[in-house]
Amino acid sequence: MKEQEKNEIEVEIREHSDADFFPEKCPICKMSNLKRFTYKFREIQDLGTPLICRRTHYERVYFQCKECKEIFTIEHPLIPIGARYMPGVIKYAVARVLKKGDSIRRVTQDLNELHLVKISETTVQRWINEYGEKDKISTDLSEEEPPDDFSGFLSLDGTFKSVKVKKNDQNLVP
Ligand SMILES: [Zn+2]
Repeated sequence: MKEQEKNEIEVEIREHSDADFFPEKCPICKMSNLKRFTYKFREIQDLGTPLICRRTHYERVYFQCKECKEIFTIEHPLIPIGARYMPGVIKYAVARVLKKGDSIRRVTQDLNELHLVKISETTVQRWINEYGEKDKISTDLSEEEPPDDFSGFLSLDGTFKSVKVKKNDQNLVP
């Protein structure tokens, strides 16, 4: 591991695998005669501290049905499809900008320097745009319960979209 650049920084790695959620049956023919077909490892960045660099090693597994030969994947409950950053990183950045009023530049710098997340302003900007358009700002964000919401993120092209938009009753309509 070459991540140990400065010896006072600890690298904390968590491992997640789709194999922990081995599917019960084929989505096509519904038979339960399945095997692992192949896999891919991906590194996903998480929010660290000035002294702890946090990364998730995620194993994306492709399963195959031995009956109909269909190859398929599952959606991991903690890892949005295509994610390069854990949902908490996005949530943090969006809260800083939309709720606390910090600038995108400032938040990007803090992510890089204080939380050891390698990220560009462009990416943070994109998250803000996507969240800003949803209910015109932050009121909804604080209402989300994190664990159940993870599967509400889908990614088709590396970008994040909040699929589950939670309405709250005291919506501030301009
Ligand atoms: Zn099948």
